[in-house]
Amino acid sequence: MVTQFLKVEKGKYENLEKAAAIINRGGLVAFPTETVYGLGADGLNETAVKKIYVAKGRPADNPLILHISDKKDLLSLVTEITPVAQKLMEKFWPGPMTLVLKKQKVVSDTVSGGLDTVAVRLPENEIARKLISLAKTPIAAPSANSSGRPSPTRAKHVLEDLDGKIDMILDGGSCDVGLESTVIDVTGLEAVILRPGGVTYDDIKELGIKVSYDKHLIDKSAVEKPKSPGMKYKHYAPKGNLVVLEGEYEKIKDYIKKFPDAGVLTFDEYPIGNKIEFSLGSINKSVQGSKLLFDILRKFDSLDVKTMFAVRPKEDGIGFALCNRLFKAAGGQILEV
Ligand code: AMP
Ligand code: MG
Repeated sequence: MVTQFLKVEKGKYENLEKAAAIINRGGLVAFPTETVYGLGADGLNETAVKKIYVAKGRPADNPLILHISDKKDLLSLVTEITPVAQKLMEKFWPGPMTLVLKKQKVVSDTVSGGLDTVAVRLPENEIARKLISLAKTPIAAPSANSSGRPSPTRAKHVLEDLDGKIDMILDGGSCDVGLESTVIDVTGLEAVILRPGGVTYDDIKELGIKVSYDKHLIDKSAVEKPKSPGMKYKHYAPKGNLVVLEGEYEKIKDYIKKFPDAGVLTFDEYPIGNKIEFSLGSINKSVQGSKLLFDILRKFDSLDVKTMFAVRPKEDGIGFALCNRLFKAAGGQILEV
């Protein structure tokens, strides 16, 4: 298959008509959202949705998020919009937040990974919303990477992973948030964060909603399985071995100095001095670091780096999500020096 690669600029939407036509005939289109690039198919066409799993090499029990372009589109997908869901969607949609609710029958088990719930998001990115409204169907779209690889925050990342496997890639520039959406279970009376992201714990709490993290996010030794199936898989990983270091700056520096060929992922305040070294910006600006993380992990791959060290980010605000992705990319290898 030849993958078409088309640029889309704000306000110039001719290419989106072509992309919507591909979705409507059961094909796959990668498109930008404010979180990461998504790999889209008609969410109500099971044959099309199955192609997503094949192209990504995604395990069948890892459900997909349905993307809508209007809040009222949620009504036809879920059995009930709970009061917590209502409050959250009023405040954070469109935006980097996915709500998990009980599904209606139109949502296939292929989309929901066999669960009786479905995850839905109304993205903020104009290209994404325009594409969904032109296609006139919810678009099922996981991140547009090969399963296990760092998520794509630029169109060229999608090309690296999926060239020849999908019909079209829409290049709409780099993603604003850079980490995937916050996934929140809102089937009950309280909000449970299944995957941290751009909408944070504090953002939700400020609305007067009772909120907690799914246990596996805070207690690494939790025996419970994560409620979001995707969280149990190896994820976001560069090809080499990545270890996260925590401790005082001088100690981290001394430790890494023993490995001059190692790649380093650090912050402006903590220069190490290795040849291959990237900064996530200021350690106090997790928003900026979140935007850069996946791009830098892919840069290590393109430089064929075998060993990498990352300085542990702060865990406040979106920093919690940044740490979550980085720790997963490191396969849980965190070393105190
Ligand atoms: P991705 O779109 O690749 O970022 O992955 C979607 C994420 O949403 C995965 O971590 C899934 O496990 C999660 N997800 C999707 N549907 C559900 C659901 N019904 N219940 C819980 N988590 C879900
Ligand atoms: Mg993903």
